Amino acid sequence: MFNFLKKTVDKALGKFKRDIEEKAELVEEQAEETEKPPKADPPKKTEAPSEATKEQAEPEKKETVRKEPQAGEKAKPPVSAPQQKSTEKEEHQEKKTEEPAATPVRKETVSPAPERETKQKKGLFGLLREKVTKIQLSEDKFNDLFWDLEVALLENNVALEVIEKIKYDLKEELTNKPLSRKNIQDIIAQTLKQSIQELFAVATFDLVELAKEKKPLVIAVIGVNGSGKTTTLAKLVHLFEKNNLHCVVAASDTFRAAAIQQLEAHTQKLGVKLIKNDYKSDPAAVAFDAIEHAKAKKLDVVLIDTAGRLHSNNNLMEELKKVIRVGKPDLKLFVGESITGNDCVEQAKVFDELVGIDAIILSKADVDEKGGAALSVSYVTKKPILYLGTGQTYDDLEAFDKKTIMERLGL
Ligand code: GDP
Repeated sequence: MFNFLKKTVDKALGKFKRDIEEKAELVEEQAEETEKPPKADPPKKTEAPSEATKEQAEPEKKETVRKEPQAGEKAKPPVSAPQQKSTEKEEHQEKKTEEPAATPVRKETVSPAPERETKQKKGLFGLLREKVTKIQLSEDKFNDLFWDLEVALLENNVALEVIEKIKYDLKEELTNKPLSRKNIQDIIAQTLKQSIQELFAVATFDLVELAKEKKPLVIAVIGVNGSGKTTTLAKLVHLFEKNNLHCVVAASDTFRAAAIQQLEAHTQKLGVKLIKNDYKSDPAAVAFDAIEHAKAKKLDVVLIDTAGRLHSNNNLMEELKKVIRVGKPDLKLFVGESITGNDCVEQAKVFDELVGIDAIILSKADVDEKGGAALSVSYVTKKPILYLGTGQTYDDLEAFDKKTIMERLGL
């Protein structure tokens, strides 16, 4: 999980950081203005300029340009003093890239003697380094620069709500205040880490502990067809039985004959009782019978398999509501297919609106290279992810752990 996400987001983040460094406005600090550039020697005739000479010539050229705005330049809106300074700095930068215009003049200058060259270069770089220490990013520029990162997140099925949150958090930290250039990387990494941690900041619980406290614990397993619902239910039975909590299963997916057979195969393997009725019989009645059975036999957990409701199918949704009404489950667990990304998040939202989900299990996390659903579903629904399905065997159920997720993301 997250392999593709990590690769693409890391790449976009690298670009984001470089872009900020390159495109943010330069901000001078008061104290640094007292520093003077080293005096340049009077120009002497010479051949082609060395690189060092080019660099030396820059401030001279910049100073001149700064005082006399270029003809035809667009009038800039009035800005306050510090902003003006930044704007001028930016102009300097732009000018700096205008190599061809300045080159002929600099060709006339002399290549300094090696020692003086080193000295002046050092002094000059020292000054420049001081001057570019602080940079500032406007919101507009931030929005432009965030674009690649936004695309990378979208590509990885990260929900829009989550992208907006990450964008907001980064914007808060990175815009409209002077930033130390050398800290940009850290600020981005720390903010991203904090932002992603907050995506999982929903109250969670331990399913096994809950089953030890409430007898019987009635769980309805819901989700769309093919999402891995039946397999996940079987994995849960296995988990409870391993913890000495005894289960009964209700085959309330009476909509598909194959679903009852599939569940029968699982329960036989796992050695637990299945309560079933005929194909197309009332699913709510099956759930009710299973709960009665659990009470009579003093079993610990009732797991109700429900039909794979397509959320666009109103009749089936009404039937699901009836199962919930009659069964009154303690928990409604939504099983969603991790690889379907945003679809999974949307389904979780719809089921939550319909019957109110309590927690989420994401199946097929083992084949999900992106992981957008894992990043998004809790934040969007405000419900915890309890487990990740990580394969097709009964043991392939991994307790969801924020710390592990952060580590996998390299944060
Ligand atoms: P249902 O229609 O929602 O009940 O889905 P099933 O439980 O029948 O699962 C559909 C397919 O997904 C089956 O082939 C399962 O073996 C497979 N499956 C379920 N969970 C996982 C998982 O966590 N990882 C992988 N790789 N496959 C899974």
